[in-house]
Amino acid sequence: MPGPQSGPATGRDRKDVLHFLTCGSVDDGKSTLIGRILVDAGLVVDDQIAALERDSLRYGSNGRDVDYALLLDGLEAEREQGVTIDVAYRYMTTARRAFIVADSPGHEQYTRNMVTAASGADLAVILVDARTGIKTQTRRQSTVCALMGIRHVLLAVNKMDLAGHSQEAFDRIVGEYRAFAARLEFESIVAIPISARAGDNVVSRSEAMPWYVGPTVLEHLESVDVASDVAAQPFRMPVQRVNRPNAELRAVAGRVTSGRLKTGDSVAVARGGRAVVTRMFLGAEERSEIAAGDFANLVLGDHVDVGRGDLLAAADAPAGLADQFAAHLVWMDEAPLLPGRSYLMRIGTAWTPANVTGIRHRLDVATSEHLSARRLAINDIGYCNISTASPVPFDRYSDHRETGGFILVDRQTMRTVAAGMIVYALRRASNLHPERLAADMAARAAMKQQEPCVIWFTGLSGSGKSTIARALEARMIGMGYHTYMMDGDNLRLGLNRDLGFTAEDRVENIRRAGEVARLFVDAGLVVLAAFISPFRAERQAVRDLVGADRFVEVFVDTPIEECMRRDPKGLYAKALSGEIRNFTGVDSPYERPERADVVLDTEGRGVESSVEALLGHLRTIGRLSH
Ligand code: ADP
Repeated sequence: MPGPQSGPATGRDRKDVLHFLTCGSVDDGKSTLIGRILVDAGLVVDDQIAALERDSLRYGSNGRDVDYALLLDGLEAEREQGVTIDVAYRYMTTARRAFIVADSPGHEQYTRNMVTAASGADLAVILVDARTGIKTQTRRQSTVCALMGIRHVLLAVNKMDLAGHSQEAFDRIVGEYRAFAARLEFESIVAIPISARAGDNVVSRSEAMPWYVGPTVLEHLESVDVASDVAAQPFRMPVQRVNRPNAELRAVAGRVTSGRLKTGDSVAVARGGRAVVTRMFLGAEERSEIAAGDFANLVLGDHVDVGRGDLLAAADAPAGLADQFAAHLVWMDEAPLLPGRSYLMRIGTAWTPANVTGIRHRLDVATSEHLSARRLAINDIGYCNISTASPVPFDRYSDHRETGGFILVDRQTMRTVAAGMIVYALRRASNLHPERLAADMAARAAMKQQEPCVIWFTGLSGSGKSTIARALEARMIGMGYHTYMMDGDNLRLGLNRDLGFTAEDRVENIRRAGEVARLFVDAGLVVLAAFISPFRAERQAVRDLVGADRFVEVFVDTPIEECMRRDPKGLYAKALSGEIRNFTGVDSPYERPERADVVLDTEGRGVESSVEALLGHLRTIGRLSH
């Protein structure tokens, strides 16, 4: 095999690249500002200007004047709606610097896009309208920028021409912004009075505001020192996969998110172990040094267990490994965050189920107050405790944005519901060690000569869950099985006495029931659980907790009219008269199972017939030994 060749130092050197995003409400002038920079700095070629003049007549909002915003609003559909609906990236270069510009939409509901745009940026250009000043939206966007690790702000007070070029108006807005932003601890806030439409103080200095002596927008963007050279930070590479091109070679592949690495350096593997890097490849080319931005294959000299989801780090600055964190969450989904619900967390290249175990506070972006909260709604920012199903490699977000940031994904819809930033790992994560017990599930199951499992009955109140579960239990006891029946009402009289019927309490009710069911399975029992369990996500979470092969979901599919007619506990009558609230099927939703293992229609089938059907299913899947 050929020896290592020395290659040139590689990696995206960001020294001369400024990555910034623009924030503001609709109509504050973000797109116009960037369009102005492109045109006035001569960064747009002439045929684009001709097209712009044509488009301005067709779509522009400036009469016969050129509408610079159209340079940014790329899509026809967006032009017609008059709003930008996704993150648009622009690349521009002046003699002094190159720029990556992320333009995020102004509408409040697009926090999701703003978060995307902010995640890689060094500086935020925050636009405010000189006539209206700081809005809640300005505060929210600034807060999100600060949480996302942006250290520098250019506050562009726009439409100064419409505010009489008044220094007093400018000073008042800047004063208010600085007072608000003090707690966000930006390293620099530079405020500039501009008119994006007229071009005042954008690229050239304004005659109309002689009282302003600071830099123009472009001058500041070209000169601001953001010290964001990720290549200078400690080495990090989330592992995407392990390649085996031939029998001898085993290479760990991934994208370097920060730092540099030379052949012969040691790396620490977050899940355990250290190794010397003996060879490195970028594609087919062998290199002696790699850096942030490179997608590389590393050959390790020592054998360590490493796979997708792991994290390689500089041996002298290793990453952490933990399963509980304190983190900021920006909630971006229409459906609220419910603590206790299981989401998927993606951090680096690792995916794991995770749930919020508590909301420490919700941030009121307007007043910076810490409010107590039991859920987070769309656009809310919360400081939360998060628990993952298995330990994940991590960094603090303030040290490494790429390996300290994560997203949460809804397990049903697969939508990204939150962006998260790790503040620190909770100490309790490293101080708890599962006790090794004298007997495990297999031993207990063998003693009882049965296959432990959970038979989980879900359905509306009065559908027949308890009736069928009780009848099945009686039959199984008669056949010599060791069973245990868990019933929603009984659990609510004890362990879950503190819980009500709101969505978040229902989530917690089922989370606890699932944990208890798991303990009984571990004890070797056949568990029959009858819970309305109205949400798919929690039923799925119990399935994951117990193990899919030991979980049998039985949907007792009785139409609500029939349940109301039976009304064994008189509850529908009370719910319909408004005496009790949050009643499933009346004023609280029931999410029908999509893939239940057994569906029982109790209108067409008596209790005994349901029991036979269940016994038949258990036999088929090998859960009945006698
Ligand atoms: P849940 O546990 O789902 O709230 P219950 O089992 O407490 O429901 O109540 C169901 C009621 O419906 C009982 O009174 C039961 O006798 C009656 N019922 C009538 N037909 C059936 C059937 N085919 N299967 C199950 N229950 C039935």
